[in-house]
Amino acid sequence: MSTSDSLHAETVAIRAGREHNDGALAPTLVPTTTFVTETVEEARAMALGAGASRFYSRYGNPTVAGFEDAVASLEGAEAARAFASGMGAVSAVVLGLCSTGDHIVTQRQLYAGTQMLLQMVCPRFGIDVTFVDCTEPGAFASAVVPGKTTLVLAETPANPKLDLVDLNEIGAISGPITVVDSTFATPLGQRPLDHGADLVLHSATKALAGHNDATLGVVAGARELIEWLWSFAVLQGANASPFDAMNGLRGIRTLAVRLRQQSDGAQHLAEALESRADVSEVRYPGLDSHPQRALARRQMALMGGLLSFDVAGGRDAGRRFVEGVEVAQLATSLGGPETLVTHPASTTHVNLTPDELAANGIGPGTVRVSVGLEHPDDLVADFFGALDLAERGN
Ligand SMILES: *Cc1c(COP(=O)(O)O)cnc(C)c1O
Repeated sequence: MSTSDSLHAETVAIRAGREHNDGALAPTLVPTTTFVTETVEEARAMALGAGASRFYSRYGNPTVAGFEDAVASLEGAEAARAFASGMGAVSAVVLGLCSTGDHIVTQRQLYAGTQMLLQMVCPRFGIDVTFVDCTEPGAFASAVVPGKTTLVLAETPANPKLDLVDLNEIGAISGPITVVDSTFATPLGQRPLDHGADLVLHSATKALAGHNDATLGVVAGARELIEWLWSFAVLQGANASPFDAMNGLRGIRTLAVRLRQQSDGAQHLAEALESRADVSEVRYPGLDSHPQRALARRQMALMGGLLSFDVAGGRDAGRRFVEGVEVAQLATSLGGPETLVTHPASTTHVNLTPDELAANGIGPGTVRVSVGLEHPDDLVADFFGALDLAERGN
């Protein structure tokens, strides 16, 4: 898609996706649901051709097409399809590419929504799913059943503890379609297609749109595969709203500066947290203590704004910490300008036993942080203050 392979990603992000813009510099919003044609023949061609962006907006829309083109350019893909959310993208990939009797290989360390779809919805359709430890070398390839496995779905860096998947290993798998959820990294952090993966997907709700004002998903890859997904997506109906796509395209222009500052901020905060006696297991791909630090260096250009750590005092101290921060805020989601903290053991995963939490890589005191754009020193002071409070137990 990109005519600009010699340009840096930062430069591509500034101009990409403006072909549908009628000369306007900023992304234009085309909210219409439908388009007028002069002849039946014109309408017929658009109804049949994949990717029509001027027929009916569930099929495609000029504002949405701009966002899709921009993501395709940044990922080095031929084409992309946008969805109403990240889960819209994940469910289209899973249900659009798999049928009864098929087998999926994925990982234990997953975004909770993806995990629930694979664990609870897939069995109802007779689709088998194997969950491997994504950090174990060769785990995905050895779980592939030739002739039965149709999809390999990886997520890296993974929720919630920043485990990594070796993208070269995913790219080397032949037979099943391979897809990487690259939400945490963004196309500025890593490009899974360059490693041989077939598809890359994002919850663009997060860092791609980047301002917590668009619920949006996207899948990018070879045109043939995207056209197949498009045919499913038109029936699935989880198409992106033009307004969200416009905000997504707006966000992409500043992705490079945001991601660089968030990566610097996360590195600073992670190093500061490592010095605290009341904090254990600080996980950040930019730390030398990350168990897959060499892999991070090899496949990630920027380490991103996500980190996690464990508060020594366990569940109660973890809860007190996330309630005690004042610069950061307690909220789900990530990749925006505001630093957000979550405490999985007392919120999203509150019903799990300590053993079940451990199997998900979550300790009773685990905190996940999405570092925003505040000054890193203010964040360190805020986190240290909230840790002191959490320690004191009131
Ligand atoms: C948030 C998220 C999703 C789901 O995206 P939504 O836009 O919330 O539907 C999928 N994968 C990852 C890694 C996420 O962080």
